[in-house]
Amino acid sequence: MNYILNKYCPRIDFDSYEDFYENFQINVPEAFNFGFDVVDEWARVEPEKRALVWCDDHDGERTFTFTDLSRLSNQAANAFRKLGIGKGDVVMMILRRRWEYWVCAVALCKLGATIIPASLQLTKKDIAYRANSAQVKMMVCVNDDYVCGQTEEALPESPSIENRIIVAGERAGWTPFDELIAGESDEFERPTGEAGVTSKDIMLIYFTSGTTGMAKAVCHNFAHPLGHIITAKYWLQVEENMLHMSVTDSGWAKFGWGKIYGQWIAGATIFAYDMDKFVPTKLLQKIQDYQLTTFCAPPTMYRFMLQEDVSAYDLSSVHNFATAGEPLNAEVTLAWERLTGKKIREGFGQTEGPVLLATFPWIEPRPGSMGKPSPLLNIKLLDDDGQEVPDGEEGAICVTGLKEAYPPGLFVGYYQDEERTREAVGGEYYNLHDMAWRDSDGYCFFVGRNDDVIKCSGYRIGPFEVESALIEHPAVVECAVTAAPDPIRGKVVKATVVLAKGWEPSDELVKELQNHVKKTTAPYKYPRVVEFTDELPKTIGGKIKRKLIRTNDGIKD
Ligand code: ATP
Ligand code: MG
Repeated sequence: MNYILNKYCPRIDFDSYEDFYENFQINVPEAFNFGFDVVDEWARVEPEKRALVWCDDHDGERTFTFTDLSRLSNQAANAFRKLGIGKGDVVMMILRRRWEYWVCAVALCKLGATIIPASLQLTKKDIAYRANSAQVKMMVCVNDDYVCGQTEEALPESPSIENRIIVAGERAGWTPFDELIAGESDEFERPTGEAGVTSKDIMLIYFTSGTTGMAKAVCHNFAHPLGHIITAKYWLQVEENMLHMSVTDSGWAKFGWGKIYGQWIAGATIFAYDMDKFVPTKLLQKIQDYQLTTFCAPPTMYRFMLQEDVSAYDLSSVHNFATAGEPLNAEVTLAWERLTGKKIREGFGQTEGPVLLATFPWIEPRPGSMGKPSPLLNIKLLDDDGQEVPDGEEGAICVTGLKEAYPPGLFVGYYQDEERTREAVGGEYYNLHDMAWRDSDGYCFFVGRNDDVIKCSGYRIGPFEVESALIEHPAVVECAVTAAPDPIRGKVVKATVVLAKGWEPSDELVKELQNHVKKTTAPYKYPRVVEFTDELPKTIGGKIKRKLIRTNDGIKD
């Protein structure tokens, strides 16, 4: 029995994946509001329930119950209302992992406002672009010279911004958050009628990672948090009152996946570590010190943790390790299992929705596979004509049946881009343009983004398979496999490789890596070109930008 979950899901326990797939259901009320219906409800029925355990690199540590958050968010909602923020107003937050993020996100949800969570690395141009395109009325930023400086420089070009709030400090021209809410009432009535929200109103605008081009502004409605029941309860396997950690900054959709919505609906406690920068050993230490029970980090973080002595840490409190955002090489999950005794459960999805495919609890993880479809989204692998592909053949991952029942949690459009919205979700199905195949047991395997699949000499080569083969070699920490121009063949497979500590580039190593790939995959897939580099080009969120490597090599998409 879980008080909140049971309100929205008629059944929460299942005997098998098949039972789950057939029978899982979410009922979306007309007017769901995460602030009142989840945070305040927990505070009402279990006042002392822990919601958030927060720490940073400067001895900061705080624990918040749902009552604390209910009250603080009420104070913030009252203060924001006095600044003219109400239903439909847009507020941008650049708060890293400061605890105030949760307070503000809940307060703004209660007000019916729309939030744009944004990343720390935005430039003044990015800020002005977002402010103007969404008519941002208020900025809430962490006290950081770069963030505040860029915001200040964006102001002359961003006339819609009326107020600037600063968190964790003071700065001329900014209102300190603590001062703003001090003295405000910790009660706040749920707005009704015209001022209240429906589940269809826009709650959230996230920007995509920008792996393939300009970041897209993805709109989610107030029902969105309910879609993350699947993400949190059935993929991350969070447990009521136990600590869950997902490593991500508040500026990304992954934060919505792992650090707020589904976790709190399921009654779990969120663990947040506001790190200055990612240091693998410090992260391992936190898992041990706080006895986390569920943990999620992007594949690249696992790869870097594996460069350290993982066995020196006691990670036995964690019963579920998870990852998403990029493909997870089988080698990484096998190495992790050797050291911790547990496999990593992969999830697949996008900023545009909740988890779509995952290694759900009843499924034995199969290294290299993303798992099986979520029951929520009617996922199919389709060919170019919209027909389902047979098992073993590559198809595009699609969310189907949109006209019959629009799945809760799936985005409702790209902000102010009707054409792109119509193209994406205006028809029968939403095509993610991510390619995958399914084995005869129903496990799905990632091939690559459609644009990243290498077409050469009549073959289609998925970069992920070649990258996974390379990463099995002890010399390789990370690599990106792309198409490179070739005067005779037109295009060839190229690997850009980051070497592990103690390895040096050499012609012999190139040969060795090529032979290794020839042995582990079909020989025609081996990289004819191997280039060594200290760092792969990545998005600010840490995703490999294969397109940039291609463009630098003179390949046009
Ligand atoms: P943009 O849309 O701006 O190019 P992006 O697609 O990288 O950026 P996100 O929404 O952060 O932005 O990422 C979603 C994409 O990440 C998916 O479409 C898929 O390509 C990739 N992805 C996510 N999870 C996995 C996974 N488990 N395995 C393989 N790829 C994944
Ligand atoms: Mg995308």
